[in-house]
Amino acid sequence: MRYPNIIHHGAVSGVTGSCHQLLMDEDFSVLIDCGLFQGAETSPQGHASAGQLAIDFPLNGVRALIASHVHIDHVGRIPYLLAAGFQGPILCSEPSAKLLPIVLEDAFKLGFSRDQKQVERYIRLVEQRIIALPYKQWFTLADTERLIARVRLQRAGHILGSAYVEIDLTYPQSGETKRIVFSGDLGAPHAPLLPAPKPPYKADMLVIESTYGNRMHENRRTRRNRLEKVLEHALSNQGTVLIPAFSIGRTQELLYELEDIIHRRVAKNLDRQAATRTSKREPVPALDWSNLPIILDSPLASRFTQVYRELDHFWDAEARARLNEGRNPLVFRNLLTVDSHKAHLAMVKRLAQTAQPAIVIAGNGMCSSGRIVNYLKAMLSDERHDVLFVGYQAEGTPGRLIQQYGPRNGYVLMDEQRYDIRAQIHTIGGYSAHADKAGLIRFATGMRNIPEQIRIVHGAPDAKRELAQALASHFACLGHEVEVQMPT
Ligand SMILES: [Zn+2]
Repeated sequence: MRYPNIIHHGAVSGVTGSCHQLLMDEDFSVLIDCGLFQGAETSPQGHASAGQLAIDFPLNGVRALIASHVHIDHVGRIPYLLAAGFQGPILCSEPSAKLLPIVLEDAFKLGFSRDQKQVERYIRLVEQRIIALPYKQWFTLADTERLIARVRLQRAGHILGSAYVEIDLTYPQSGETKRIVFSGDLGAPHAPLLPAPKPPYKADMLVIESTYGNRMHENRRTRRNRLEKVLEHALSNQGTVLIPAFSIGRTQELLYELEDIIHRRVAKNLDRQAATRTSKREPVPALDWSNLPIILDSPLASRFTQVYRELDHFWDAEARARLNEGRNPLVFRNLLTVDSHKAHLAMVKRLAQTAQPAIVIAGNGMCSSGRIVNYLKAMLSDERHDVLFVGYQAEGTPGRLIQQYGPRNGYVLMDEQRYDIRAQIHTIGGYSAHADKAGLIRFATGMRNIPEQIRIVHGAPDAKRELAQALASHFACLGHEVEVQMPT
């Protein structure tokens, strides 16, 4: 075998289960991510079968795991990796080092045991394995007569702590050097809260995601205006707006945008009140944005939001400027968090009965389980309420069925019970925290040194193909020979 070489253990036939093994020489290899297969890539209910959870490749020679970011489709199989006898460290960015134990605690409870003692023991074990790497600093993985290997993380702008991974290999005997870059998941350039990723300086081999390799996002202002319009319309007839959302990334982006909408609306209402006072006209009844409750009903999302708040030095310039103005984008006055299960059930009951205007964010994002299900059961058949989807709904999930059949007065089965859909259904795309086609092309083509080989992973077949064609023609126009692969 020639080195370096890469084996893809996941995210080649779809977008989940990311796990790539970089073979550096016959003795040394590292894993980049070890994620769970999710959604339709497992079963319609989103449960992975046992066979897809277990680690099905040999671990000898695997010296470390590098986690690009803490989404479950990139780290969810770490408990199985440890169970399979992996002894090495888990390298990740500093923010990821804070988030990862929270994610893995949840994964461990779902997959292994809810016994508190066992959970604590497990989390201590995980924490001992984690090595937090500051962004932009090289860390030595191997230093022998035959191989020098270093790794460096760069900001990927996808979720807090996300990184793309640069690995430098030097083979002292031949004098050969190689740089391999793994994109992980890349953020959209105009996503709220985090700075956009910059292309790598150079790469010989690039492994790049392609989730939105065939799509372009709406721009941020259009999307925010649409969000505001949907909310205004939804709240005008009273009732609750239910937003199913995943805990890390999208929830914090939404909170950030909601704070801004409320901030601007309250300022506008004050102007309007001042205007009606001077004109002596009757005041126009408007939605009371200043007292509109935003309810975050997800203990897990609340914990992640807490870490986002603590690590505000990783935010982008716009978000930090808001802090400096005395605003607090993730801890605003209207935001209520619901923790205990009892409080959750009471909240569902209260909102279903009173239909007072409120916005609820609860997981999970595809409505296949989690607290959102109780809200849906209680409110989906009442036309005063609204459901707003902000993320991709995988085939076969209740979220997809509601999205599909809601507008046709259809119904959905949840826990084998039929629920007629009378609530209004809305969808706003783009809250995905993934780069679109233009962003991916910019990343792959913006380097000083053009890669010899690009491997496109982590995308549906159409997305991969379209990105591959776009990259191949870009390089062909420039007269560069680049091998663009779609590994299977
Ligand atoms: Zn991700």
